[in-house]
Amino acid sequence: MTDFDVIVVGAGPAGVSAALEAARGGLRVALLERGAYPGAKNLMGGVLYTHVLAELIPDFRDRGAPLERHVLRRGVSLLSADAEMSLGFRNHRWDRPPHNHSYTVLRARFDRWFAGVAEAEGVELLTGVVVDRVLKDGEGRAQGVAVRMPEGEDPSGGELRAPLVILAEGANGVLAEAEGLRPRPSPRHMALGVKETLALPRETIEERFGLEGEQGAAWEYLGEATAGLRGAGFVYTNRDTLSVGVVVYASDLAASGLMPAEVLDRFKAHPAVAPLVEGGEVLEYGAHMIPETGYDRLPLLFRDGVLLAGDAAGLVSTSPSHEGSNYAMASGRMAGQTAVAAHRAGDFSSATLTQYRRRLEDSFVLKDMAHYRAWPGFLEQNPHVLSRWPAAAAEMAEAWFRVGGTPRSERGAEVWDLFQRRVGIWPFAATAFQMRNALRILGYGKTDKLLEYLARNW
Ligand SMILES: Cc1cc2nc3c(=O)[nH]c(=O)nc-3n(C[C@H](O)[C@H](O)[C@H](O)COP(=O)(O)OP(=O)(O)OC[C@H]3O[C@@H](n4cnc5c(N)ncnc54)[C@H](O)[C@@H]3O)c2cc1C
Repeated sequence: MTDFDVIVVGAGPAGVSAALEAARGGLRVALLERGAYPGAKNLMGGVLYTHVLAELIPDFRDRGAPLERHVLRRGVSLLSADAEMSLGFRNHRWDRPPHNHSYTVLRARFDRWFAGVAEAEGVELLTGVVVDRVLKDGEGRAQGVAVRMPEGEDPSGGELRAPLVILAEGANGVLAEAEGLRPRPSPRHMALGVKETLALPRETIEERFGLEGEQGAAWEYLGEATAGLRGAGFVYTNRDTLSVGVVVYASDLAASGLMPAEVLDRFKAHPAVAPLVEGGEVLEYGAHMIPETGYDRLPLLFRDGVLLAGDAAGLVSTSPSHEGSNYAMASGRMAGQTAVAAHRAGDFSSATLTQYRRRLEDSFVLKDMAHYRAWPGFLEQNPHVLSRWPAAAAEMAEAWFRVGGTPRSERGAEVWDLFQRRVGIWPFAATAFQMRNALRILGYGKTDKLLEYLARNW
């Protein structure tokens, strides 16, 4: 007799979704989390995209999900050293439920609530428990996990038995690596996110961002936002706090010699950002990895008795949008459904677990990742798109709007000259063409797909 039918490692969005789905299918589920409570070790910007949550818990708003604000203002700003060029969007239809399925959340609160729902539906949540390794039988099939208490606490360990283990341990993926499901990702394919939560009075936030009541804003910043490194800065509004952070490629950060906190401090000190965060008291600081591995570097998503979900599997949007939590929930859900199917079939081998990959392929998770498969490579080859060029665009706007100096009649020529020096028409045309291919937009057709296929296979 095993202790459980399935053991889920990690109580982030992927793990809780997997556990909930498996429990609803009648399985005995253990959800193991090393933090003192779910969310204690988690960090996210964060806009939570709730379309998958709504499928899992349709009445999540009525059931007290700790949502901060619904996002009805979105925007992106291109920063030069002292100027900002912005494109903003506000949609008052998003003021009504389902609020475009976009809410700011604080993960420490949200994850705790989400795991509480799973517990209420029969999941056994064990916190303060570190999973050290997956236990196997003589033929290499998973049989459960070996656990211990976090360092400094009770050093004793133990074992929990189940024929299926779902690894939803987040981006670090130590267990997934030990299981040979994925290699250690290169710093070229990992981003580092650093984030602060800043306390400000509610009215101050609403005044600064032009909001009322529960309305919220999510703003991204490119160019000088990240000290010239590939990445972006962000400011998201919560009820009485701001989530402020930067995400940069780990390889760029290492090469720059900058500390993550320095990049964040520079971002906060930029004249476009400083007035928004001024007076904010730092409540929380954290750093966390984000996989940027993409579709072409997907790990093995399963093997006998093991499934991999969420960030641990690199299942994160590789499109220009920052989405991870909804991918984590969707993949966790499908892992949970696969666990139920495997249990019914009494077969936990790869032959049954392969349906997990099929479910993912049929969903937005792998459809979108496959669609944007060339985007990470494009950014690697064209780092200027996220750094030099946004700054150049802000400089051109400054030249155009400046009063005095060259006569207005010569301003067009001045902007063109700046464009030629900072960007260049041919580099611009070549990059724009590559970007169109990477995003598969603007008449991207069958011939392009064939050329892309040939390029990848030769
Ligand atoms: C700065 C930043 C901003 C982001 N902004 C957004 C955003 O705005 N919107 C969005 O959708 N996504 C955003 N993301 C991405 C999002 O946070 C992740 O995609 C999402 O959290 C992945 O969920 P997960 O459940 O796979 O992993 P995680 O949320 O990382 O959860 C993994 C859990 O496993 C636990 N764990 C790990 N190892 C063990 C072990 N050995 N034993 C027991 N427990 C273990 C951890 O403590 C953790 O609780 C952001 C990420 C960062 C870093």
